[in-house]
Amino acid sequence: MSTKYLLPCSCGKSVPVSVSQSGLTTACECGRQLEVPTRGGLLKLEQVGGGASLGSRPPRPAWGPRQGLLFIGGVAALVFLGAGLYEYANPPEDIVIGAIARANPIDTLTYYRIFGSGIDVSGSPENQRLLKQITSRRVWMTTWFVLAGVGLLAAVASRFIPVEAAKRPAKRPPAPASTRG
Ligand SMILES: [Zn+2]
Repeated sequence: MSTKYLLPCSCGKSVPVSVSQSGLTTACECGRQLEVPTRGGLLKLEQVGGGASLGSRPPRPAWGPRQGLLFIGGVAALVFLGAGLYEYANPPEDIVIGAIARANPIDTLTYYRIFGSGIDVSGSPENQRLLKQITSRRVWMTTWFVLAGVGLLAAVASRFIPVEAAKRPAKRPPAPASTRG
């Protein structure tokens, strides 16, 4: 029983063909007539059933540095972005209550300035405490978003790693013999 190869058609489907059909035409389901390539051309095609074939190329590694970086970067970006957004969307109750519920007009202005600029504008212990919380929250949010950005960059950068990067470069040929005498 001969190995069958999948001959791709422009419609997106593939037609199984065998080496014995080389040089002939075959019809796809869509009606197009496809020319069956020579044996050498067929060997480059995907096989039906994946049986061992003569001289088929080794399968491309499914998991290389490219995929690894893409995966790690993508996951990191998502996780850190999620952490940052969660932090952003869920301020500690203290800050909200302290800043809004108990605020008189002057405090409101104070907190507005704290939120707006991050610069300490007041001296009361309560304000100091809130300011500390706000600042640490900002630091964390910034950290999460920066890390998310790094992850995203890593994921994008993975696109530029050549597919064959996993392979070690071939041994360098010996240096050309120096001319002597
Ligand atoms: Zn077709």
